[in-house]
Amino acid sequence: MNPNPIPDPDQTEIREGDILFDCPHCGKNMAIEAAGAGLMVPCAACGKEVQVPIPDAATPEVPVAAVPRPPLDNGESPEETIRQLDAALAMANEQIDRLIAEKESLQERRAYLEQIRMANTARYEQIAAELATLQDALDRALVLLAEARAEKPA
Ligand SMILES: [Zn+2]
Repeated sequence: MNPNPIPDPDQTEIREGDILFDCPHCGKNMAIEAAGAGLMVPCAACGKEVQVPIPDAATPEVPVAAVPRPPLDNGESPEETIRQLDAALAMANEQIDRLIAEKESLQERRAYLEQIRMANTARYEQIAAELATLQDALDRALVLLAEARAEKPA
């Protein structure tokens, strides 16, 4: 939904209910259908985002939500209500305890895996060092072999 620029209000078709407003950036007069109220739209002239004003008349009266009050006489004694609340609270606390225990066990598991990872890293580094030693020995052996072949009497 884009606003129409109004170069000349007499020439532009403005329908009943259209919202007329000015771009706050460039001052261009614009019209947009009533459904655009409150939307962010690009200004037809300067392209900047403009919030379409909400006409006062169209602003619905927002009813204040009434907080429902439980009837005092609902057949349950206050003691019974308190007992039920206590039970719900106890269940919630149990659930929190379970979640804390679960979190702790996950943290332990993570620490354990981290230890394994570090031990493996150390092993891999050791293996890499051993392979480097083997490579060096192999290189030296190949040099000796090449020398031996070169010195072989023809
Ligand atoms: Zn503008």
